[in-house]
This record gives sequence, structure tokens and C-alpha cells, in this order.
Amino acid sequence: FYAPPSQIHHNFAELTGQEATHASKVLRVREGDRLVVVDGQGGRYEGPVERISETSLQVRLEERQQVSAPAPELILGMGIIKKRDRLEFAVEKAVELGARHIALFRSEHTIKKNVRTDRLESIALSAMKQSLRSWLPEISVFLSVEEVIERFSDVPCLMAHEKVSSDTGGGNEAASVADKEDRLLLLVGPEGGFSPTEAERAQEEGARLVSLGAYRLRAETAVVAFMSRFL
Ligand code: SAM
Repeated sequence: FYAPPSQIHHNFAELTGQEATHASKVLRVREGDRLVVVDGQGGRYEGPVERISETSLQVRLEERQQVSAPAPELILGMGIIKKRDRLEFAVEKAVELGARHIALFRSEHTIKKNVRTDRLESIALSAMKQSLRSWLPEISVFLSVEEVIERFSDVPCLMAHEKVSSDTGGGNEAASVADKEDRLLLLVGPEGGFSPTEAERAQEEGARLVSLGAYRLRAETAVVAFMSRFL
């Protein structure tokens, strides 16, 4: 179960909202049952349910552990995909694969401009729990890929780009960078790809263009293929 750090107290955690409903109404958790609670920031706790009310569950924290963040810390910058189910799939898989931040951006070739971040946050939460992770990535929306690069200007950046020849070893290069860096910003374009200007500007800002192989992948597949290189 998930409780944000503000709901983790000295010796108890409080589950509220959907987490409380899911525990008490769907899973029929009872007082005395032992639960595992994560705070999305690496905190992992375990203990028995002490009190159940209409709106919340109180869990006594008997065991606590701080789980270190996955390394390298991956920040995924992803162009907004038009089809909602494909975008949601990409977010779900990015969380399973350990993204620490998901930066969605509009770009020159973006068709869809608006996203329901509340839905994506709930998908991210389920994916974190499902994959037994303890870190919940922040999801934010940017006006352009340039803005993402600027926001993470201190992080080495790799941009997946189809126009990079896979014979030049671009794909392998991505994996070898991972050994050296603590943090990486990975950029994947939307269905329409990055425009030449976006790719040029990114390079000027220090991004390295990398190939994910000789074949064109859908944006959501590219997210999975790219992130998997750093597992
Ligand atoms: N028509 C677009 C184009 O020409 O750029 C196709 C874009 S592709 C469906 C969506 C994104 O996935 C691309 O912007 C890129 O980031 C990534 N991508 C897909 N296949 C790739 C490959 N073989 N190498 C590198 N990146 C790839």
C-alpha cells in the first residue's frame, strides 16, 4: 500500500482515499492483518492494522527499511502520445522499469496537447505497487523538449533518434554511458518524431543522439527498449 511521507508518522502510517477503500472494501483487510506500506520515496514499512474507520486505516509501523533509489537514476522525457491507451502504457512500463521522473512534453510534432496527469499518476501508483518498487516518480508536463533539457541541464542527456545509424554503435553507446553516470535523461519523441530543429537544439545543449536499432519503433515501444538498456 502507499502512503505519502506526510502520512507516515513516528510509529504509524495512515492510509486514506483510494488506498483505504482498496484495503478495507476490496481486499477486506481487518484489524490485526499485517500490511506493507511504501512512501514513494524509498521508505518501506511493515506492521499490523491497528484501526479502521470509514475513511482511513492506521497501520502500526514495526519494521522500517530505506530502499536505495535505482541506479542510474533515469529521468524519462517523453513526447505526448496522441492515443491515451498508448501513453498510459508507456507511463506504466516506465514506472515498472524504474523511472524516477517522467517529463511529458509537447513538441513540434505533437498532435495531442492535453493530458490527464491525475489518471497517469494513478497508473504510476499501481505500477509502482505491482512491480514492488518503493519509489514513485513525479509526472510533470513541459511545453517543449527544450524546456525538459533546460530543467535537467545538470543531467547527461541521450535522445533516441531514428536518423542515427545503428551501424555506428549508437545503441551500444547508450548502455556504455550508463556505467559512468549516476543520472541520465532519456528523450523519446512522440509518434511524429523529433523535428530536425529539436534534434539540433538538443545536440547544442549537449544531448547525444542514439539509435535503438535499425527499425522504427512506436514511441511507447521505444520507451521500453530505451529504458531496458539501463536495467
Ligand atoms: N516518423 C517519426 C520519425 O521519422 O522520427 C517516427 C517517430 S517514432 C514512432 C517515435 C520515437 O521513438 C522517435 O522520435 C524516437 O525517439 C524513438 N524511436 C523509434 N524507433 C527508433 C530507433 N530505431 N532508434 C532511435 N529512436 C527510435
